[in-house]
Amino acid sequence: MTRTLDHTHDPAAVSWVESARRPNGDFPIQNLPFGVFQRRGRGEAARIGVAIGDEIVDLSRAIGQGLLAGVDQEVQAAGSSRSLNAVMALGRDAARQLRHRLFALLEQGAPDQQAATGCLVPAETVDLLLPVDVGDYTDFYASIHHATNIGTMFRPESPLLPNYKFVPIGYHGRASSLVVGGTAVRRPMGQIKDDQAPTPVFGPTRALDYECEIGAYIASGNALGTEIRLADAEKHLFGISLLNDWSARDIQRWEYQPLGPFLAKNFATSVSAWVVTTDALAPFRVPAFDRPSGDPDPLPYLFSEANQRGGGIDVSVEVWLSTARMRAENVAAVRLSRSSLATMYWTTAQLITHHASNGCNLRPGDLLGSGTISGPSRDARGCLQELVGRAGESINLPTGEQRRFLMDGDEVTLRGACERAGTVRIGLGECRGLVLPA
Ligand code: MN
Repeated sequence: MTRTLDHTHDPAAVSWVESARRPNGDFPIQNLPFGVFQRRGRGEAARIGVAIGDEIVDLSRAIGQGLLAGVDQEVQAAGSSRSLNAVMALGRDAARQLRHRLFALLEQGAPDQQAATGCLVPAETVDLLLPVDVGDYTDFYASIHHATNIGTMFRPESPLLPNYKFVPIGYHGRASSLVVGGTAVRRPMGQIKDDQAPTPVFGPTRALDYECEIGAYIASGNALGTEIRLADAEKHLFGISLLNDWSARDIQRWEYQPLGPFLAKNFATSVSAWVVTTDALAPFRVPAFDRPSGDPDPLPYLFSEANQRGGGIDVSVEVWLSTARMRAENVAAVRLSRSSLATMYWTTAQLITHHASNGCNLRPGDLLGSGTISGPSRDARGCLQELVGRAGESINLPTGEQRRFLMDGDEVTLRGACERAGTVRIGLGECRGLVLPA
């Protein structure tokens, strides 16, 4: 949809920052994702940063030194703030202005290299913070493979409900318990009712799961009572990050009817620290889900040729697991799954348009989760519930340990990247979460 390529996507471009030239790195000069950081142990205020290799451009310092000359004053003011909300509120153009100016500063041969060097902070010396003060968080269910796998466990005869191919299904999540990757997550307590038991008990969940998702951040919003047409939807998409929608399946099973997920989900949701902009994703656009014949076309408000042609984004996502014992025995983390956002039944633009289609106002910094990203194959299932199924299979780990659900001390790491022949790979970084006892 928005597949405008320019010199910032040139695969031949390189940065004078050496670590940004490492093959298979996450943050080459073609990426330039935004985040918020704080130098460790200095007592300084949080500030916006842009990742380049193993370094971070301290944006307010660069602005203070006049290195962003030519960028609109209001964008510079927003770039000097403590979260990305003000930049997001100025819309996609603001992000593009910053991207273009930073590209010029960081490109090999840049006249301002010496001054820009003084604005670099080694990533290993900072704490990455939540990049956005999220006002509202919505989680969707956009993977038909995930919906089918889950549906099969409960309704083998008709896994998909009749609305699935018409409505992008979602629920309102909770923004207050969003945490940045690296934050440990405590095993939640809740009501659990065994099938045989007459009444529930209150205790720690015994079925803690992750959900591997992509989070989409809203740039400029829409006024209450107005819609966002599909043709305009990507103007409202600031960028994406990784998202882990931690879920307690036993609590969920008992509480979800009739109003949907509640305490099984809102104890914590992790997002990765770096927001990769829609502009950076331009070389990785792919067609929307190829609906098999027999599937209904999307209703007109969710349909456009442009969205069909390029509404998808090919971001591969992976889930890695490391147990406490694996770490103690120096056993490397194991990959549990790999899938792609490109396999989703609904594009991100369709999710935005649907969300606002009743006049609901989206605001800058709002977060939309994609839903668990599962592909058609077994090794592309994006949560444990799908990997182990209902029959009670277990995942065997190299230490001889087995998992059906997460145990205390387990660490889940999501990774994401865009790769395509003829382009430079860009990464989303990682989103880690260690499980603490209840
Ligand atoms: Mn979810």
